[in-house]
Amino acid sequence: MYVFIMKRKWDSVKEKLEKSSASFKSVELYGKQLMIVWPDEEAIRIDDPSIEIKVRVKTPFVLSGNEWKKEKTIVDVNGVEIGGNDVVVAAGPCAVESEEQVFEVAKGVKRAGAKFLRGGAYKPRTSPFSFQGLGPKGIEILTKASESTGLPTVTELLDARDLPYFDRVNMIQIGARNSQNFTLLRDVGKYGKPVLLKRGMGNTVDEWLSSADYVLAEGNGSVVLCERGIRTFEHSTRFTIDIGGMIVAKRLSHLPVCADPSHPAGDRELVRSMALASIAAGADMLLIEVHPEPEKALSDSKQQLTISMFEELMNQIRGLSKVIGRRI
Ligand code: PEP
Ligand code: MN
Repeated sequence: MYVFIMKRKWDSVKEKLEKSSASFKSVELYGKQLMIVWPDEEAIRIDDPSIEIKVRVKTPFVLSGNEWKKEKTIVDVNGVEIGGNDVVVAAGPCAVESEEQVFEVAKGVKRAGAKFLRGGAYKPRTSPFSFQGLGPKGIEILTKASESTGLPTVTELLDARDLPYFDRVNMIQIGARNSQNFTLLRDVGKYGKPVLLKRGMGNTVDEWLSSADYVLAEGNGSVVLCERGIRTFEHSTRFTIDIGGMIVAKRLSHLPVCADPSHPAGDRELVRSMALASIAAGADMLLIEVHPEPEKALSDSKQQLTISMFEELMNQIRGLSKVIGRRI
């Protein structure tokens, strides 16, 4: 696969590509006009003065890889920069349950230093008989809490038909179960808002980065990769947090990497160590579930931190960040 980085004018190369037997796709990304061309045998034959540089990409993922883009991508969500020197923490309940619950948690996590408010309005539950989330009402509550605290929001989209409700959402989460829902990935790519892309619990790092390619191929470069644990034979934790995979993703991709220590932990007592390990491994962002009364939560009750546990964790994150030369 080749990425041609084009000078502004590129009609002439398009004509040549159309006449050749090469396949190609053009996309504007990070202010650059790109032409992705394959197979290699055809791509090397194309020559045109409108091509600034031709980069041969050897990995199965293309746009999310750093062979053509050496500099790290910083994803800006309402002025909060993910992928720079600061470690960004997003926190909030697994699911939006009520206005009181979200306001209490939003105030608590903001005080503790979180930069984002998370909370699911549309919940991907294993059983259709479990709490499915409040839907549009949930988004409304989240938005109100965001306006009152100033924290931008991140919330999961399950179905592109719900996008009209996501107008005032700041970052769209694509959950583990939809990590390879390619039509949904294309839709959020076109929608254009920043995307937090979870790794599917059965996906390799290559597959995860290829999923990111679907969003990027639509011209949306604001993608943050999120490791949330994979399925292995080990059942002492809910999922196995793949710290190694996260390190590899950071090495292979220019995109920022987030870690969600809550879902692999499955137990609030394990969240702290997984969060700290992720930061030590280079995570740019953390996504942490916090609930004012976790034992009463309607989903993921065992793994949600209390507000005071979260405060304690933030103090430790602050200490660790200093040691590794990052800020929070
Ligand atoms: C969540 O963040 O609450 C969630 C459902 O995450 P995942 O898709 O990783 O299971
Ligand atoms: Mn959850």
